[in-house]
Amino acid sequence: MKILDFPDSVRDRIVPKVSGTYVYRCLACQASFDVGKLLYTCPQCRSVLMIEDRDWDRLKKTPGPQWRQIFDYRAMIHEPALKGIYRFHELLGAILPLEAVIYLGEGHTPVVQANGRLKDWAGRPFFFKNDGQNPSASFKDRGMASAFSYLNDLITNQGLGHVLAVCASTGDTSAAAALYASYFIQGVTSAVLLPHGKVTPQQLSQPLGSGARVIEIPGVFDDCMKIVEYLAEQYPVALMNSKNAWRILGQESYSYEIAQVFDYNVTDLVVTVPIGNAGNITAVMAGFLKLYDLGIITQLPWILGVQSHHADPVYRYYLEPNPEKRVFRPVTVRPSVAQAAMIGNPVSMPRVVQLVEQYRSIGGEKAVQVVQVTEQEIMDAMLMANRNGHIACTQGGECLAGFRRAVSQGLLPEGKVGVLDATAHALKFAVFQEKYFEDRFEPEFGIEPKMELQNRPVLVRPPEGVPCPRPGTAMDSESFRAFVTATGDAIASILGLRP
Ligand SMILES: *Cc1c(COP(=O)(O)O)cnc(C)c1O
Ligand SMILES: [Zn+2]
Repeated sequence: MKILDFPDSVRDRIVPKVSGTYVYRCLACQASFDVGKLLYTCPQCRSVLMIEDRDWDRLKKTPGPQWRQIFDYRAMIHEPALKGIYRFHELLGAILPLEAVIYLGEGHTPVVQANGRLKDWAGRPFFFKNDGQNPSASFKDRGMASAFSYLNDLITNQGLGHVLAVCASTGDTSAAAALYASYFIQGVTSAVLLPHGKVTPQQLSQPLGSGARVIEIPGVFDDCMKIVEYLAEQYPVALMNSKNAWRILGQESYSYEIAQVFDYNVTDLVVTVPIGNAGNITAVMAGFLKLYDLGIITQLPWILGVQSHHADPVYRYYLEPNPEKRVFRPVTVRPSVAQAAMIGNPVSMPRVVQLVEQYRSIGGEKAVQVVQVTEQEIMDAMLMANRNGHIACTQGGECLAGFRRAVSQGLLPEGKVGVLDATAHALKFAVFQEKYFEDRFEPEFGIEPKMELQNRPVLVRPPEGVPCPRPGTAMDSESFRAFVTATGDAIASILGLRP
C-alpha cells in the first residue's frame, strides 16, 4: 500500500525514523557502555550485557492501542526493510537507519493450529509457530538479521573496517551467520566453529554452501564457545553467538509476532520454548515485558521452558523454590536428539535469572515454568506432531513433549493455549528420525522406537519373469505394459485395493 493511502492517524508513523539512545547494560555491575563499538561482556566485571534504550520512556507517549495500529498497518507497506523483524523497529532497532537493514526473508513465520487428534494427545489446544520457515530454516535468522544489520550500520556509517564474523554453533547459528555474512558484497566474511560430529549433515552443508570458513574441533558446543570467546578477546573479530546482545534484540521479534497474530490478547497463552544457550527464552521474555511496559498487551502470557534430561542445567536451577538458595551449576551434557539445545553451561543464564524474576513479579510465580523431558518423549512427540501436519524438528518435539508433560503434571490449568516454538525445520534433523525408524539409536540416548510411529519405504518388484526397466535401455511397449500391470497389481495388493 502507498503511504498516502494509510489513515491519517498512523500515516506519519508507518515509516519509522531513527530515534533512541542504545547502550550496552551490564547485568551484574549495572555499568553502561556505548554501542558504537562491538562489545560482548562488561569490560569491568566480564558479565553479559543487554541492550537498553536510554530514551525508552519516549515510546510511552504513544498509547498501546496506537502502537497496535502502527504495527498492524505497517504490515501493508511494501518496503523490504520493514518486511521482517523491523516491522517492530522502535522496539528492537530504533537507532538503525532503514538503509542498514539486511532483510533475507526472516520473521512472520506461520502459526499453525494443532488438529483435534494432536490436541487430545497433548491435553490442551495449541499452535506451533514454525520458525523453521525462516531463510536458513531456524529462528536464529531473527537474531542474525539484527546483529548483521547493526554491523552493516557500523561499516557503512561509522567507519568500521573489514569484519570477520565468528560463531560457535550446534549447527543452526553457523547456518544463519554464514547466510547473512554471504549477502555482504564487502566488509564482512565469516568463520564458524563446530563440534566435530555433533551437527547434522544438513546443518554442515549450510555454512559450506554459503561460502564460510568451516572449522571443526573435537568436543561439544560448550568447548567451541570457549574458543570463540577467546578469539573475541584476543583478536579483532565480531562474535555472532547470542552472547552478542544484538542477537537477543532481534529474537524479541518472535514475541511481537505472537502478540500481533493473537490480536494482542495473549493472556491465556503459554509460550513454550526449548532452552539451550538460553538466548531464545531470554529474548522471548524480554519481548513480552517490553510490550507490557508500553501497554501494547495488558497481561503477560505464561512462558514454559523445556530441557532434555541430558542437558538440563536451567531446569535443575529452578527446582529449588527458594530464590535465595538457588545455585547455578553447569552440567556435563549427554547425547541428545535435541542437539541444538545440548548445552550444559548456557551463556545467557544471568539474563534468564534477572528476567524470570522480573517476569514473575508482574505475572506471578507460574508465569515462568521450566520442565524436563526424556529423549524418548522428545522423539515420540516430534513424530506425533509430524504425523499430524507439522514440520517440527527435534527441538520442536521437545516443546510438545514439555507442553504435554506440563499438562499432565497439572501445571497448565484448563483454558490455557500453547504456542510452541518449532525452532527449526524437521529436515535439518532428519538423521534422528532415521535412527528411530531404523532402530539405530546408540544406547546412551535411551530411546526405544515405538512400532506404531516407525515408517519405512517398501521396495516392490514385479514377479519373477516380468521385465524391469533399466536406466539407459529402451523397453518395447509390450514388456513395459507387462511391467506396469504386474507392479501396479503388486502395489494394489499391499495397499489393500480392489479393482
Ligand atoms: C539454537 C537453537 C535452540 C536453542 O536456543 P537457545 O537460544 O540456545 O536456548 C533450539 N532449537 C534450535 C533449532 C536451535 O537452533
Ligand atoms: Zn559489569
